[in-house]
Amino acid sequence: MRDNAPNSWEARADRYSLYGFTDLPSVHERGAVVLTHGRGPYVYDTHGREYLDANSGLWNMVAGFDHPGLIETAKRQYEKLAGYHAFFGRMSDQTVLLSEKLVEVSPFSRGRVFYTNSGSEANDTMVKILWFLHAAEGKPQRRKILTRWNAYHGVTAVSASMTGKPYNSVFGLPLPGFLHLGCPHYWRYGQHGETEAQFTRRLANELEATIIKEGADTIAGFFAEPIMGAGGVVVPSAGYFQAMLPILRKYGIPVISDEVITGFGRTGNTWGCETYGFMPDAIISSKNLTAGFFPMGAVILGDELADRVQAAAEAIEEFPHGFTASGHPVGCAIALKAIDVVMNEGLAENVRHLTPHFEAGLARLAENPNIGEWRGKGLMGALEAVKDKATKTPFDGSLSVSERIANACTDQGLICRPLGQAIVLCPPFIMTLPQMDEMFDKLERALKQVFAEVA
Ligand SMILES: *Cc1c(COP(=O)(O)O)cnc(C)c1O
Repeated sequence: MRDNAPNSWEARADRYSLYGFTDLPSVHERGAVVLTHGRGPYVYDTHGREYLDANSGLWNMVAGFDHPGLIETAKRQYEKLAGYHAFFGRMSDQTVLLSEKLVEVSPFSRGRVFYTNSGSEANDTMVKILWFLHAAEGKPQRRKILTRWNAYHGVTAVSASMTGKPYNSVFGLPLPGFLHLGCPHYWRYGQHGETEAQFTRRLANELEATIIKEGADTIAGFFAEPIMGAGGVVVPSAGYFQAMLPILRKYGIPVISDEVITGFGRTGNTWGCETYGFMPDAIISSKNLTAGFFPMGAVILGDELADRVQAAAEAIEEFPHGFTASGHPVGCAIALKAIDVVMNEGLAENVRHLTPHFEAGLARLAENPNIGEWRGKGLMGALEAVKDKATKTPFDGSLSVSERIANACTDQGLICRPLGQAIVLCPPFIMTLPQMDEMFDKLERALKQVFAEVA
């Protein structure tokens, strides 16, 4: 598998690149996969091998890797205005158009948009907006941020503090004042004999107890992904947001929906908050915002927050925040096109069309005695590997079961992602039924092979 020649792509990747979120023993043994090009949902490596990418790159390449309309839009915008900022009262026409469009397709009747280069920066920006707002409104002590265990909100010092993953302790994070509530994964965290409704109620009670203990007037906001993505596609327990929202409203705590993965069609609706029937105060977007064709994130403030933040900025004559490439004209042009492609060229429809097949495929693989549960919504799903299905006992961590399954998939030309002991699938919106069959056939062979090895 690995090309060990000192001048191979694998060796050169190893020598000069610091891999992020990569299992180093596995990559040292197998070599990095170095990609050269993409076609539709497939990518190709330096050896000419083809991979069906069942993860849309990193959840984002929803229109595939070579969408002609997106490429053409980028080229045309580079020819017109190849770069600009959004400082000092200047911004590109594309930025104006995109903000209008984002508010139009948002669940809000009015709003304002602020641009970043990534989802992490968008969450970071949202936290700064809340700190700024509460201080301007005479409540500078309202700084604590509520998120959940297993949540993923990014990697900057602040967004990593919001992320509820144990690995951040290697950085001495979270920062003080970032509080993590229970993860709404009933299958894993429901207690013996507890119904799903009781589990949801327990999480809501935990929220209220936390607010009372910390003091409502010390809390700046609550952030949640409608479905946790990098937490392992955790679909919330039944009634979760309906139980949480009234408590947050009661204490005047702003609700931020992190829709970096769930935005623009992934769950079958434009927004994940629609799918789960709740109305946030602001939305965080990135990843599929540009169908992965440009690094970009956006904070979309809803009616009320937009007005309050604008008033606070006017009081001091400036909102002192921004990135050099905020509202980049090429990124904005691509995002406008990506929204059009997803919403008007049949991609969102294809998600709804494929969902029953996707769910049926997951359910079929979950019949395997070493798959504890399948979960998902729209075109995001996961299979949880277990040693013992009845007791939900996981495999010994040293076996690296999900890593092995993902590697076995790679060997067959399928890219999917190990997350904890789960395998995550997040296919692009352009996938066809035969490609979906190919995905499940390859995954099934990988599961059989690895479970035979570790059983
Ligand atoms: C990926 C992700 C982020 C971070 O986005 P980056 O562009 O990687 O910084 C934030 N929130 C969610 C829900 C994500 O999936």
